[in-house]
Amino acid sequence: SFRDNLRVYIEHPQAHNNVLYYDDDFVFIRDKYPKSKMHLLLMPRNSSLTLVHPLEILAKHRSLIDQLRFMVFNKLSDIIMKEARNSLFSDPELSSKVPSRTLWDFIKLGFHAGPSMNNLHLHVMTRDHVSPSIKNNAHYISFNSPFFVNIDTPVSQLPVRGSLSYLFQQDVRCYRCQESFGRQFSRLKGHLSKELDVWLQEILER
Ligand code: 5GP
Ligand code: ZN
Repeated sequence: SFRDNLRVYIEHPQAHNNVLYYDDDFVFIRDKYPKSKMHLLLMPRNSSLTLVHPLEILAKHRSLIDQLRFMVFNKLSDIIMKEARNSLFSDPELSSKVPSRTLWDFIKLGFHAGPSMNNLHLHVMTRDHVSPSIKNNAHYISFNSPFFVNIDTPVSQLPVRGSLSYLFQQDVRCYRCQESFGRQFSRLKGHLSKELDVWLQEILER
């Protein structure tokens, strides 16, 4: 099934050119259908954990959650900053004016409450959602609602598995200014593109 398509990366990381990093325990790849300017996936290779549901990982495998956070903020931080800069700025001179801290504030880390792909993967992505691969309201909602479970979610606040499908019928709202676009995806898409430009202006004027 297509749901197993991420398995190749943890089994043969050396064979794929969208792999940014791998070691014995983790593989870090670019998402093939990025839903933001930067969209990366961090995958544990452990064969007894890769098929465990992310909500169960968050509830019961806290040491893996700590390891994922350590990877992102320590081992992989230079790679992530480089990817963020290259995907957000066409001009390296402009990029160099923006502190990494500002970019980290624009990055989110989380799991889908109901993943489409079976092998465990943490989304590491910018907040913009400006991308040709964002093709419908559901794509946007899955990353901008409780369906996107932030890696820092306390165990007591985890959603119940299968309880969130109602979210996909709701109106879409801008992640930044909260403006609602009803169910009008093309208006949301136009607005997201403008919001990214406004944010880039703002951080360059700081
Ligand atoms: P999920 O909804 O399961 O949390 O996210 C799965 C992610 O995997 C999606 O963002 C999707 O674009 C990405 N994806 C699907 N197939 C492939 C693939 O073959 N290679 C890569 N690198 N990413 C993929
Ligand atoms: Zn807005």
